Amino acid sequence: MENAAARFSNQSLDHHWMPFTANRQFKEQPRILVRAEGIHFWNTSGEKLLDGISGMYTTPAGHGRVEIREAVNKQMAELDYAPPFQFGSPGSFRLAAELANLTPPGLNRIFFTGSGSEAVDSALKVAIQYHRARGEGQRQRLIGREKGYHGVGFGGWSVGGMVKNRQMFGTGLPGVAHMRHTQIPENRFQMGQGEHGAELADDLQRFVDLHGADTIAAVIVEPIAGSVGILVPPKGYLERLRAICDRHGILLIFDEVICGFGRTGEAFAAQSFGVAPDIMTMAKAITNGTMPMAGIAVREDICQSILDTGAPDAIEFFHGYTWSAHPVACAAALATLQIYRDDDLFARGRTLAPYFLEQIAAFRDLPMVTDTRGYGLLGAIDLAPSGAAGARGFDVLKRCFAKGLVGRVAGDTIVFAPPFICERGDIDQMMGILRGVLTSL
Ligand code: PLP
Repeated sequence: MENAAARFSNQSLDHHWMPFTANRQFKEQPRILVRAEGIHFWNTSGEKLLDGISGMYTTPAGHGRVEIREAVNKQMAELDYAPPFQFGSPGSFRLAAELANLTPPGLNRIFFTGSGSEAVDSALKVAIQYHRARGEGQRQRLIGREKGYHGVGFGGWSVGGMVKNRQMFGTGLPGVAHMRHTQIPENRFQMGQGEHGAELADDLQRFVDLHGADTIAAVIVEPIAGSVGILVPPKGYLERLRAICDRHGILLIFDEVICGFGRTGEAFAAQSFGVAPDIMTMAKAITNGTMPMAGIAVREDICQSILDTGAPDAIEFFHGYTWSAHPVACAAALATLQIYRDDDLFARGRTLAPYFLEQIAAFRDLPMVTDTRGYGLLGAIDLAPSGAAGARGFDVLKRCFAKGLVGRVAGDTIVFAPPFICERGDIDQMMGILRGVLTSL
């Protein structure tokens, strides 16, 4: 640890333009993490910090898992890279088969990408090509939702609905419409699913009525909107979306980049909420955060419709990435899935969830707290803004860091997504740090 910190001292910070970061503030007051193990990070001063957000929703099994490291080392020695276009390597086929066992029935064709953003853009492109393959090429509209986050590719931010991620970058894809978000006052302080889901989902029907179903390719939602600050779908919401999609031949895409791999207590939120999409994205926890990797699971017949177009020896889907199905990432993912099975980690998360959610809900006693929400091991606490929007949230983030907690904020919302390996005492410690910070403001 000292070595990593010592190696870092005197390093200029100027050249790295950091993502989604207040660069000027950061370089004045850096928050550098040099080591991680289990549910802790260490900073350059050698101080130990709790990981309240599982890396960035990436690391539910805890940091430094030897099984993953060994699998990665072995793969690096054996086959460090293989071209993914017109060639293959064994790991991706094994991994795809394993993933197909975790996804809802029928979503058994897996396409790999390097990031969640790429997974989203891939899903949107599959939807559009699928309709074209069936002679419905006019179905090109994409429906997203306010407050949604689907990454930063042009497709993803166009269907996304987080204002700051959109406003600097122009008009985005044409033919995109957004349903209302689901954060309604009636559901404040509701842990789990609130009410009025079906009414909100009927927005999709309104777009059908306005534009014609035969112009709409797909609707994409996060089952639980994560990045905006954990919006749990109200009761009946996902079911109604499914019903409208079925009635009108629209594909339903679930963006499970945050929800996937046990975060909601089941492998995917689709299973937790009992609603299966036609396409789902996955990323983050697929390698326990160790290697960049993501992908989409696609209904078999959708994939088949695309494969059946064109000559038998022609490329069917003109899409893919240099890092698609990277052999080392596949090895990391296979070792990760093995850990999830061996340690029964999804069940462990499920068992911890009620206690965690109670602790989140307990923040309602603080006057500055305007909402608490959560589901599974995802929880959020809204703070009344103080000054500019997001200023108080950022202040809390920095103070928590100084007190030994790596957290995450979305504007003035504090978000928790603890590792599944946490004990109740670890949750208490995280909440204790936040409470201490909030009461000191
Ligand atoms: N979709 C969702 C729901 C996400 O939460 C994220 C990232 O947080 C993305 C897509 C984008 O993933 P990435 O940052 O890997 O591109």
